[in-house]
Amino acid sequence: MAATLIDGNKIAGEIKEKLAEEIKRLKEKGVSPSLSSIQVGEDPGTKVYVRSQKKSCEKIGIEYNLRQFKEDVSQKELEDFINHLNEDKRVSGIILQMPLPSHIDGRGLQRMISSQKDAEGISPANMGMVVYARPILGPCTAMAVMELIKSTGVKLYGKEAVMVGHSDIVGKPTTLLLLDKFVTTSVCHIATGERGTLPEYVRKAEILIVAVGKANLVKGEWVKEGAIVIDVGINRVEGKIVGDVEFEVAKERASFITPVPGGVGPVTTAMLLKNTVEAAKLQAK
Ligand code: NAD
Repeated sequence: MAATLIDGNKIAGEIKEKLAEEIKRLKEKGVSPSLSSIQVGEDPGTKVYVRSQKKSCEKIGIEYNLRQFKEDVSQKELEDFINHLNEDKRVSGIILQMPLPSHIDGRGLQRMISSQKDAEGISPANMGMVVYARPILGPCTAMAVMELIKSTGVKLYGKEAVMVGHSDIVGKPTTLLLLDKFVTTSVCHIATGERGTLPEYVRKAEILIVAVGKANLVKGEWVKEGAIVIDVGINRVEGKIVGDVEFEVAKERASFITPVPGGVGPVTTAMLLKNTVEAAKLQAK
């Protein structure tokens, strides 16, 4: 039987609706959430993200300020700008758009963003709170994955999950959030792929999350019957956006599956907005 599609746009819409109401109430109390975005260079993908972030923010009442820097900007100029945003009381949240040119130390810049203004939830302090199972500003994509799994209504306690991908911003925090729900979680990465044991792991997964960035890496026939499949990957193939999972075959085996596009992406953006509102509240305290 074909899987139920997990509608990321619908889930994101519900989150944004609640946020819009909350923002109205906050503004009555004099708290106005705003998001400052830093873009370096002319990456076409970044331009699309920035446009969509601006639209999403403004639709629910968050002020969006974009500062664009030329490709040849220095590390020092960016550091100075982040320091300025950290100190500016009108700025609730900050997001540093990726990718950055190779002469820029992006991790270093991200670490400079005040943890109270870290809209992406990836600063060391915010990641640390994930370890303690008490995310304040949580890492957006990992939080989105959990929201999508929650929407299925499936009880998580004791389930077997496989996380494919161990990046700092997606794979690792998602693993911690799953552990917090008492999900037995295996993590696979490039070495699992090289060893050839990825199919073995995937076949066991009652919950499968894939965040790699390789189109069709996970074959549909590996997917366990009845699994929940969350596909985080974004790949452009022949002008089309696809995920990391062979969708057409996987959807015949899974019980729930996220489409790409329209799955994780919109909920990640909703989490960015949620963090911006949380950040504004933290600073108003
Ligand atoms: P990354 O690019 O930092 O790391 C990739 C991960 O995949 C690593 O853990 C690596 O070891 C693993 N990997 C590579 N080849 C493998 C193989 N053959 N078998 C098993 N594992 C393998 O990861 P990231 O930043 O988390 O991004 C992953 C994907 O998710 C990308 O396509 C990215 O665009 C997408 N992404 C989407 C969203 C969203 O909102 N939808 C957000 C963040 C990232």
